[in-house]
Amino acid sequence: MAETAFPLTKMNDDQELLLAEVRRFNEEIVRPRLAEMDREAKLDPLVLKHLFEMGLMGIDVPEQLGGSGMTFTDAILVIMELARVDPSVATVCDVQNTLVTNAIQRWGSEQQKKVYLPSLAANTVGAYCLSEAESGSDAFALRTRAVREAGKWRLNGNKLWITNGHEAGLFLVFANADPDKGYKGITCFIVSRDTPGFEIGKKEDKLGIRASSTVEIILKDVEIDDDRVLGEVGKGYKVAIETLNEGRIGIGAQMVGLAQGALDHATSWAKERQQFGRAIAGFQAVQFALATMDAKIEAARLTVLNAARRKEMGERFVREAAIAKWFAAEVADHCSSMAVELYGGYGFTRDYPVEKLFRDAKIGKIYEGTHFMQLQTIAKLLLAD
Ligand SMILES: Cc1cc2nc3c(=O)[nH]c(=O)nc-3n(C[C@H](O)[C@H](O)[C@H](O)COP(=O)(O)OP(=O)(O)OC[C@H]3O[C@@H](n4cnc5c(N)ncnc54)[C@H](O)[C@@H]3O)c2cc1C
Repeated sequence: MAETAFPLTKMNDDQELLLAEVRRFNEEIVRPRLAEMDREAKLDPLVLKHLFEMGLMGIDVPEQLGGSGMTFTDAILVIMELARVDPSVATVCDVQNTLVTNAIQRWGSEQQKKVYLPSLAANTVGAYCLSEAESGSDAFALRTRAVREAGKWRLNGNKLWITNGHEAGLFLVFANADPDKGYKGITCFIVSRDTPGFEIGKKEDKLGIRASSTVEIILKDVEIDDDRVLGEVGKGYKVAIETLNEGRIGIGAQMVGLAQGALDHATSWAKERQQFGRAIAGFQAVQFALATMDAKIEAARLTVLNAARRKEMGERFVREAAIAKWFAAEVADHCSSMAVELYGGYGFTRDYPVEKLFRDAKIGKIYEGTHFMQLQTIAKLLLAD
């Protein structure tokens, strides 16, 4: 494969064009709506419309199935670029690409791919429903049940923290079809929003990524046909683990983009803000703060792109994906916090953009495996060698 397909150092022409388009979208559509979407905790429908029209909701879905026919790495680059302006918009795109279309491409039958991927790429938002009130890090303790009755599956249970749930039309729902077998009973079902018994519950009022919806899902006697089982019955644990391993690279990308956005703001501010008769960028302490951010972002970007490269090359990448997410979340935390400090009192207000990034950064240490759970994965692999 050509070196430029994996942009560790340089992007290929298609990637340059794609990112130029994302930058234009960021400036023309997202940035003018940023503050209101955050305040109202609502994704502007125009933003979503553009994400679909630009082909960003099915980035690595093959063209013959209505997707953009690009690669997983391209999706990672897009998520990074979106997060530079709004990490919420990056979340919408991330869940769609690295979890939902990814799982269907990897585990779906040919028929399922033909039925679901074209609509996901064109106009249907997807959501990934694993977590519950009592099972977060311990995801396989989930209590949602799938019972076989009269040739169908009947789903009952509640899911919590479901990203994209407000907008989504298609939900990947994990339920246990045989609790006696423990996690080996977990099965993944493709559920449409309009299925009787399927309800959207409370929408969370969050600290950050407020324009990305996070909702509760309620399943009451939801009847599902066999052709909506994704992968095999009892293999849902594999679908979950393997999709989340890949999804983590997406969260790493989101955190790198967020950190870069914080540095972009801090650099411009440091050149403008005058104290003691000069721009604060003239002070060595400020220069070193900016340089430290830059160096950390560069390192985080390389860990994320390397994890994506390894995944695409078919190499082992679980350690690298955990490191990428863990490190990028550390860097986003540091950079967004430092950006607030460099803005001084202004940084502490909602009139300036950096406090939002500071709030948005926190989620990087929580979802798709908490910060400690990433370290647990890294340590497990380290000690197993
Ligand atoms: C905004 C948002 C969006 C989300 N989107 C989705 C989604 O789309 N789909 C979905 O399925 N889920 C989603 N989640 C859920 C998310 O993945 C969980 O919140 C996360 O996995 C942590 O689970 P928990 O909240 O139950 O915390 P807990 O598991 O209760 O963890 C609490 C604390 O205990 C620590 N801890 C737990 N177990 C261990 C251990 N063994 N060793 C060391 N420390 C441990 C954790 O690190 C953490 O610090 C989302 C969450 C949020 C906040």
